[in-house]
Amino acid sequence: MQRVGLYAWGGPGTIRLLQVKYHAPRIDAASFMALYDDAALAEAKDKLGVTDMWVTFSWGFSTATEQPDRRFIVERLPNFAQYDIAPHAYVQGLNLVTDEFADQDVFCCDPHGRLLPYSKGRSFTCPNKPAARAVIRQRVEAACAHPFAGVFIDNLMFGLPPFMVRRDYTSFFGCACEHCQAAFRQQYGYALPTGPRRSPQQIADTLDFRARTLTDLCAEMSCITRDAGKTFGVNLYDPYWHAPEFHFGYSLAQLGPHLDYYLIENHALAASNRHLIPLIAADDKPVFVVSYRDGIGHDAAYTQAEIDAIWCEAAALGYFPALKATEYITDGTWHALDLSGIHAPNRSGCAERTDISASEPVRPSRWIERRLADAGSAIYAPTLRASLENTILAHVVSRLKLDTRVMRAGRRYTHGA
Ligand SMILES: [Zn+2]
Repeated sequence: MQRVGLYAWGGPGTIRLLQVKYHAPRIDAASFMALYDDAALAEAKDKLGVTDMWVTFSWGFSTATEQPDRRFIVERLPNFAQYDIAPHAYVQGLNLVTDEFADQDVFCCDPHGRLLPYSKGRSFTCPNKPAARAVIRQRVEAACAHPFAGVFIDNLMFGLPPFMVRRDYTSFFGCACEHCQAAFRQQYGYALPTGPRRSPQQIADTLDFRARTLTDLCAEMSCITRDAGKTFGVNLYDPYWHAPEFHFGYSLAQLGPHLDYYLIENHALAASNRHLIPLIAADDKPVFVVSYRDGIGHDAAYTQAEIDAIWCEAAALGYFPALKATEYITDGTWHALDLSGIHAPNRSGCAERTDISASEPVRPSRWIERRLADAGSAIYAPTLRASLENTILAHVVSRLKLDTRVMRAGRRYTHGA
């Protein structure tokens, strides 16, 4: 069966999150509030043939703050049944709004005990902390109590990614909290290296530790979801582009059995997704791909030609197209998908698209790089936080599209593990 996805954050929670995540954003609130209305679903079905939508259930605010968000989507679930669209409850993964959980032991930390920023106003949570796991578990259970078709966990990321990776040396990555230290010592028999990783063995053990922890978390959430008769999925980003063990923490091979479909989110709208053919061809699970032009926070509304290109490539490669339906920023205003000027995509006449360049093996470190990793690891978290929280720095980072550049160009390697 041909399936089509809409990756559709909407409702009051999405508006609130934009206000947390960005500095004084100008928001077309009405567009986010209308995203799950009858008229929007009818248009999505009619023009795009949408079969699946990932809809906002929990953005990572406190449970009390989120109540209106959850009520908003639950009240609209009958609309989805009317148009035969499967709604997947979107649950934020391993990050929470920092101020809303200030009194709870949920957050990751760096070797100096500082929180790890996920975005402005949000910090990474640690899957080894019982309180953090309880937050996700309660949210998955809460979603399972309603007639969603599935539960989806976004941002399955175990702490910060390394900013430098070499075969024998990396900068700090992951989490250095006391729970991670205790669990690591128990499993590997030596102390968790909390700063840079200074040997191939330390690197391999850290990757194994993070992957196993995330697999365990997913297995638990998948079990809860499947027991409720629903499908389970997570955002994989792009497992073939970004060496996920390093940059997100998960192992695709380990996660696979716990997932009912694959959802890939990448920056390949202007490139090709041919690198995903092994995943599309190797498994009978559905593969949805949502490809951005430059990514969340950068993309103006897509043109008909871009939507045609997505549908065309999906047909050619055999994946299910998914379109982001939210967080467009056009002429400085944040808005949701507007299909009024769009017609049914043309799937024929694919334009030539450039393959992303092949991954390269990680090379050994040089002396200067080891010193850079040492010095940078100590200031990594606070520097990153400043670049997100400071209005001017955040503006510069956004204008330079540094996040997109890093995702596109800085992570194409295989680590040989
Ligand atoms: Zn931890």
